[in-house]
Amino acid sequence: MRVKERIKSYLSFENRMELRLFKNNLRALFFFGSNFYCVCCNRSFRKFLPYGNVSRKNAMCPYCASLERTRLLNLYLLNETDIFIKKKKTLHFAPEYMLSKKLRNSLKNDYVSSDLDPSVADIQQDIQSLTFKDTVFDYVICCCVLGHVADEIKAIDEIYRVLKIGGTAIINTVINLKEFETLELSGVSSEDERLKFYGEKDLLRLHGLDFRERLARKNVKIEMVDYSLKYSKEENKRQSLGNKERELFFVIEKLDK
Ligand SMILES: [Zn+2]
Repeated sequence: MRVKERIKSYLSFENRMELRLFKNNLRALFFFGSNFYCVCCNRSFRKFLPYGNVSRKNAMCPYCASLERTRLLNLYLLNETDIFIKKKKTLHFAPEYMLSKKLRNSLKNDYVSSDLDPSVADIQQDIQSLTFKDTVFDYVICCCVLGHVADEIKAIDEIYRVLKIGGTAIINTVINLKEFETLELSGVSSEDERLKFYGEKDLLRLHGLDFRERLARKNVKIEMVDYSLKYSKEENKRQSLGNKERELFFVIEKLDK
């Protein structure tokens, strides 16, 4: 067993994350400065790190590893929801590291994170077939997951099933803003092909502006939120809040019927 795997097997998820933050603390020293600000860890930096299969400049925080969409989501949750104030039962898929920590600190036992990789979340669940009972959660957060799931329709239905009536799902995905129709080619299977057609190695489809229609069901109300519009051009740059391709949020309320 390699050293990294051995450490992983001994330490809890939380301890491993804390170890990573400690290591990133040292890395952050090389990024000392004030040009950029990360709301997820409340730190300033000279620059952010590049990130992505097609590299995006100033995308990742050198300390907490948050990306553009996570910083924008953090701002949205903080300013526009009661998730940090009231005890809200929350399910968080593919949990973003620092945001997950903040939600857990605030919500305690009302917070649960889930991922296919059990080493990065509280539980391991297939989003297409959740084991939770109906109407359990006040919030479901699901960012950049649905482009990677084989049966997207089932996954969306499952999110809505476990959401309480009056509860809120916050969903986003990578969207090609120049196309209405989602691109999903049957012959595309290799990483190289996915990168070529969808822009990322592990995407199974590249959503278009029809994503809103794909989320639509009889019992939900959907609002597309471009929260970057809340901030000036300078502030968008300083906090590196993205170019909307990964940062449009679909805020969905589950209705009575
Ligand atoms: Zn950060």
